[in-house]
Amino acid sequence: MINFQYLRTTSAKSALSMIAKDQNSKFIAGGTNLIDLMKRGISTPGKLIDINHVPLKQIELHKELVIIGALASNTAVAEHALIKEKLPLLAMALNAGASAQLRNVATVGGNMMQRTRCGYFYDTEMPCNKRQPGSGCGAVGGFNRMHAIFGTSDKCIAVHPSDMCVALTALDATVVIAGSKGEHKMLFKDFHRLAGDTPQLDNNLKSDEMIVRLEIPLNNVAAHSHYLKVRDRASYAFALVSVAAGIEITDQKITDVRLAMGGVAHKPWRLTSSEKFLMGKEASTENFEQAAKIAMTGAKSFGENDFKLLMAPNTIIEALTLAKSKV
Ligand code: SF4
Repeated sequence: MINFQYLRTTSAKSALSMIAKDQNSKFIAGGTNLIDLMKRGISTPGKLIDINHVPLKQIELHKELVIIGALASNTAVAEHALIKEKLPLLAMALNAGASAQLRNVATVGGNMMQRTRCGYFYDTEMPCNKRQPGSGCGAVGGFNRMHAIFGTSDKCIAVHPSDMCVALTALDATVVIAGSKGEHKMLFKDFHRLAGDTPQLDNNLKSDEMIVRLEIPLNNVAAHSHYLKVRDRASYAFALVSVAAGIEITDQKITDVRLAMGGVAHKPWRLTSSEKFLMGKEASTENFEQAAKIAMTGAKSFGENDFKLLMAPNTIIEALTLAKSKV
């Protein structure tokens, strides 16, 4: 592990001023991914700025928006009565992620910033365009069982590992970001990036900015929502495929619907075309099957992950069926 300076701050303003002075600094909160990256020499910050004491842990309802501070722990959010009642999809997704111990220290902002778990990215002996641009991609033609089937590029086929972010995409969250010029907002769906020609960039946060909070509008799908994660183990495993599904049913018809997938792309993958198809239709198995078929348009597999072409639509159908069956 490299030597680094450790700094601690208690305000967002001073945190931003510290990071602006040294572009080789990084914020640290829970550190559940960053420390691993540093141990392996993948991330080598000269300074770590500890932001755990910055007061950004709020979880509250403000008018029609649920506000979640960037430093709220994954456990605090998942266990909060407001989240369980109004945004159960988010609580379910959080509880599907990592282990209880990790969720206790991992923060909302850190969860958004975590990096792919592609094995080649973590092995500094192997080619990886994300770790070292221009070095190639070991996963194309290599071990790619966990990898993407949507939005891939010839530079990178990694997936974003978060469960929480899949639910937040489905829930139309907004990210509030602070920088030297004050705060600005970004739709959650625009926060993470596809790999394209710049796989080294996971998201659109600038190096001198920090996530301060999320704003999530209340919705009508809370009563019928389900986060379904398919994985190799029942706990502490990343998704092969996951689906966040929420529907509102009025007089047998779908009057609102949210669908997003995880484990299939470099960013949480919103299923907009499937949502459009389902709106106004009966919540029937036939329509769920058709929505799943629409969702698979453009899917492309890479050998070891061919099974996802069947697993993904089946997971969509099952998630919608489970969401519908909630009472
Ligand atoms: Fe690196 Fe992306 Fe290829 Fe994995 S898929 S080896 S992260 S470039």
